[in-house]
Amino acid sequence: MRIIVQKFGGTSVASPEVRQMVLAKIEQARQQGYRPVVVVSAMGRKGDTYATDTLIGVAKNAYKHIAARELDQIMYCGEMISAVVMAGTMQAAGIDAVMLTGGQAGMITDNNFNNGRILKVDPTRMINLLKIGKTPVVCGFQGMTVDGELTTLGRGGSDTTAAALGAALNAELVEIYTDVDGIMTADPRIVKNAKILDQISYGEVCQLAHQGAKVIHPRAVEIAMQKNIPLVVKSTFSDAPGTLITNVVQQETSETAVSDRVATGVTYLPGVMQIKVILEASTTHNESFKVFRAMAESGISVDLINVHPGLIMFTVMEDVADAATVKLAALGYQVETTRNCAKVSVVGGGMREVPGVMANFVEALSFNDIPILQTVDSHTSISVLVKNDDVNKAVTALHERFGLSN
Ligand code: ADP
Ligand code: ASP
Ligand code: MG
Repeated sequence: MRIIVQKFGGTSVASPEVRQMVLAKIEQARQQGYRPVVVVSAMGRKGDTYATDTLIGVAKNAYKHIAARELDQIMYCGEMISAVVMAGTMQAAGIDAVMLTGGQAGMITDNNFNNGRILKVDPTRMINLLKIGKTPVVCGFQGMTVDGELTTLGRGGSDTTAAALGAALNAELVEIYTDVDGIMTADPRIVKNAKILDQISYGEVCQLAHQGAKVIHPRAVEIAMQKNIPLVVKSTFSDAPGTLITNVVQQETSETAVSDRVATGVTYLPGVMQIKVILEASTTHNESFKVFRAMAESGISVDLINVHPGLIMFTVMEDVADAATVKLAALGYQVETTRNCAKVSVVGGGMREVPGVMANFVEALSFNDIPILQTVDSHTSISVLVKNDDVNKAVTALHERFGLSN
């Protein structure tokens, strides 16, 4: 049985007109001899009636600090509505569709509400449906604990559902349908001349996704990579071939081999707060582990870490900003914070040991009068912290400077 997983994001299922386009993609796969397993996200985006953000708003209007467990129950509704409507659309077109929740599709997670980690996927029910000619329509983003509690997989987690089902079903291919023609050198909402990447390795796309390119969820890429399942990111609204994500990038075009690119793309992650813990220079060494232990014990992830004599700097996401500062204040630390920041990164598998990458990076920002609040680099990325207001300018300048606009 040649299985394909086709995942459709929120904008792809938002109206009857676009659901007909989804139908055409499913029909196409069937005509090519595949047995599709369809995964859907909640309909639309922020502001739309059944979008995840709208449902969160409904719950938080009742109580801003509503418990994570209850939030998962309301978030579940978005994908349920979408999957029922999509299954109905398919049934009307003569496809024997069966709607399944994440739990019914065998997605077992831990009990980390709002950010469940997949423990295993039991594909038995889906395989049985496929064998009798039915087409499962699975709610993305959803899981269930072994005790039957409802969980969700973290924002953007329908991609993760698709990859996990692909791995469990040994699918030939996982297609991620969205509203852009593929993975691009930057978010096309910011950089108008961003280019589609025909191919990209799991490693590079993982970096892009971790650094904020929300076109695909990093967990989805990690799961597909473990089982070597090819992923294609493409548009519901066009026939463009999209971006193929695989283990090795074989094609050597007239340009540089893809894996040797100094810069593959520019990404940004808004909603970040910088924290500076001011210390006596002599105590930094002893205190730094206490500070990071305190963050870990509060379940707060830290990023952009720099430790200097007398100063520990790091960043946290804004949604945990209060929890982080309250915890540090309770421990008696002197803390300075800068809110409304964003991390801007250049990612490229071939940037290691290439001289001048950092110089180019810093020059591009300083020529555009963009203050850099902090920097950090790895073998395959350089990131800076800037103010949110400077993000568009920074992303555009770096895209240009690293030759991605040509
Ligand atoms: P879906 O609801 O289909 O999952 P998302 O909104 O999660 O869609 O992801 C698609 C969006 O990701 C695009 O509309 C685009 O603005 C944004 N995006 C950010 N970075 C990139 C990138 N490097 N390439 C393509 N799209 C990107
Ligand atoms: N609907 C969920 C979200 O908005 C999952 C997804 O779209 O992938 O995060
Ligand atoms: Mg998404």
